[in-house]
Amino acid sequence: MTQKRLKTYVTGYPRIGENRELKKVTEAFWEGREDFDTVTGISKDLKARHWQDQKARGIDFISSNDFSLYDSMLDMAVLFNAVPERFRHIKEDHERYFAMARGTGNAVAMEMTKWFNTNYHYIVPELSANMDLELHPHKVLGEFNEAAKIGIKTKINLIGPVTFLALSKRVDGSDDPLNLLPAFLPLYVSLLRSISELSDEVFVQFDEPIIVRDPDDRTLTCLKTAYETLARAVPGVRLIVTTYFDHATEAIEALRDVDLFAMGLDLVCGPENLLALSHLNGKKLIAGIVDGRNIWKNDYQRSLSTLQALEHIVRPDDIMLSTSCSLLHVPYTLSHETALDPEIRSWMSFAREKLTELSDISKIHSTGKGAPGNLEILQTNQRIIRDRQCSLRIHDPAVRRRSRSITQRVRQGSFAERATAQSTVFKLPPLPTTTIGSFPQTDSLRKLRQDLKRGAITRDEYGLRIRNHIDSCIEFQERIGLDVLVHGEPERNDMVEYFGEQLSGFAFTRNGWVQSYGTRCVKPPVIYGDISRREPMTVDFISYARSRTRKPVKGILTGPVTILNWSFVRDDIERSDVCEQIALVIRDEIEDLQHAGIGIVQVDEAAFKEGYPLRKEKRDKYERWAVKCFQLAVSSARMTTQIHTHMCYSDFTDIIQTLERMDADVLAIETSRSGNRLLKVFNDRGYSNNIGPGVYDIHSPRVPTVQELTDKIRQLLLALPASRVWINPDCGLKTRKWAEVSPSLRNMVTATRAVRRELAER
Ligand code: GLN
Ligand code: ZN
Repeated sequence: MTQKRLKTYVTGYPRIGENRELKKVTEAFWEGREDFDTVTGISKDLKARHWQDQKARGIDFISSNDFSLYDSMLDMAVLFNAVPERFRHIKEDHERYFAMARGTGNAVAMEMTKWFNTNYHYIVPELSANMDLELHPHKVLGEFNEAAKIGIKTKINLIGPVTFLALSKRVDGSDDPLNLLPAFLPLYVSLLRSISELSDEVFVQFDEPIIVRDPDDRTLTCLKTAYETLARAVPGVRLIVTTYFDHATEAIEALRDVDLFAMGLDLVCGPENLLALSHLNGKKLIAGIVDGRNIWKNDYQRSLSTLQALEHIVRPDDIMLSTSCSLLHVPYTLSHETALDPEIRSWMSFAREKLTELSDISKIHSTGKGAPGNLEILQTNQRIIRDRQCSLRIHDPAVRRRSRSITQRVRQGSFAERATAQSTVFKLPPLPTTTIGSFPQTDSLRKLRQDLKRGAITRDEYGLRIRNHIDSCIEFQERIGLDVLVHGEPERNDMVEYFGEQLSGFAFTRNGWVQSYGTRCVKPPVIYGDISRREPMTVDFISYARSRTRKPVKGILTGPVTILNWSFVRDDIERSDVCEQIALVIRDEIEDLQHAGIGIVQVDEAAFKEGYPLRKEKRDKYERWAVKCFQLAVSSARMTTQIHTHMCYSDFTDIIQTLERMDADVLAIETSRSGNRLLKVFNDRGYSNNIGPGVYDIHSPRVPTVQELTDKIRQLLLALPASRVWINPDCGLKTRKWAEVSPSLRNMVTATRAVRRELAER
């Protein structure tokens, strides 16, 4: 049985380059080692290569304008000339662009924040009602033409008006960016008019992921109005509305009667979309079946079955096969991963390999299993899928047995009981001072770790030199008078990788870079199998630190939820089960630290908040298991062992009860942005454990003065009782220089002492 060929569609493609070429040349330009023409040249080559890669692998719908020198939201702001006043005087386009992203000496950078529940960060546009808007479409049109010149007709990617506005912020006093829709729609319309002149039939993909985040009626009305307007104003252009990361059932309904060419739906993270397909009402379905967020090989048989099921609801000719979201969120290609275990590697698929998956599935679907070559492709795929399911590398009976036999899941004692027990052990002054764990990562430290990896020095030599670092770190902390010391994390490259490298079930890529923001990329570990610990991971260096001082030393571990959320996770078992396995490993580590005499342990959950599902209906479930895993991880702590946790930049107002259930003795959080308001909320909602609200922002090189810090601490004490407050910076210090850290912490201690005296006099 042969059908019309199923068209293949890629939502977006990575742009940083197979070998991070864009990162390298852009940074070289920033440092003055390259001129901007070189950046333009390399960008052009990359775009061409990416288009050709897709074409060569049989992709029908290839995007232009998915490329960006820094970020696509920033590109949209520039497209509309929504340039904040403080950058307008900069003449050169690219200088102004990078200044907006990174700031200059006298203009702070625009804010950056996480793109939904990914680890990608976008630039937040700053909008106001009386802004001078104006269309600058040369990038959008230019990229289409660039591709056309090499014989590739692209669809044009844009961020849709509703998502663009909803993710922007007003800087004119209003807090309602969506209100600006009437001002922006005409710009979108004239952009579409210019686009319509590019060619007879042009396709435009509008990304509208905002619509999967529990849209309210107003957002849905805006969505409907926007696309009605665009469809009516420029009938010649084929409009596509694309959503991802969860289901968009309300949006499908809201757009029912709007004349769109197609809708892109994520069927991996939003299978609920299936229930709303009947409302597509003649629009084509871009079926996001190949996972754009994870790195596992697609199960062809399953995808073929899904397609068959879809054909019962949507006319077969109206279906296109797609990635579930942009491939920006996965590394470029597996072809460099020669050091990976071949068996594990055979289970994986990065961006370029996913292109082949799309065309394989399309081919088998359209020409049938009997057509030449198809059966072989399908069988090979199914063999790999089965091999992975049955592989001994994945299943560790001991880990499973242990999971089943856990009896104690929470630690002993209530917070009040523990606090009493701990106060007799630690004898800390009021407002105890501490840090979040890391101290500056100097070049010499980085080189030291590299030397060990390359085999240039022995383990013993390495240990010795790390101990020297710990010595000076402890000596520094004693000298400036901190109360609870840390070893400084000199042995850690990254807070997740460090633990993953010592655990079974984890694999590491060589070149598996994923863009995080601008030129910054991360290389997430891959969790492929059951997780266990071979031996203690941190006890050696932390107990050494403890032996060098009489003050308490706080051991620092990364928490299970964060290790999970910052990795590519196996998809053959529930995330909650993977997390539980990590929790058990951390629990053993805490046990060992206790045996070694460490009385305070901080379990970092920097990425706790970013794991939240986008849909309210799914949040409870996540919270429940995430909290349980944290509790399990610290369940080995004795009453007298003080458990700290730390969370980074996020909004905590809606999870205070959850933090309470985590029940850490001390919670160190960032509050510099939301300030005292947040602390009051903590107090009002009855959060009763200790809190260490960061007293200064470590992301800035500025050294806070004693006066500022004293004021800040006094402020804190207006919102929280002094008996429950700890004093610390708002995050780890690894990205700072000693020249900043040293005076900042000194000032922090001086300020704390001043406030202590005031308290004593009261
Ligand atoms: N303990 C880690 C550090 O101090 C925490 C890092 C983080 O919160 N991202 O670096
Ligand atoms: Zn942090």
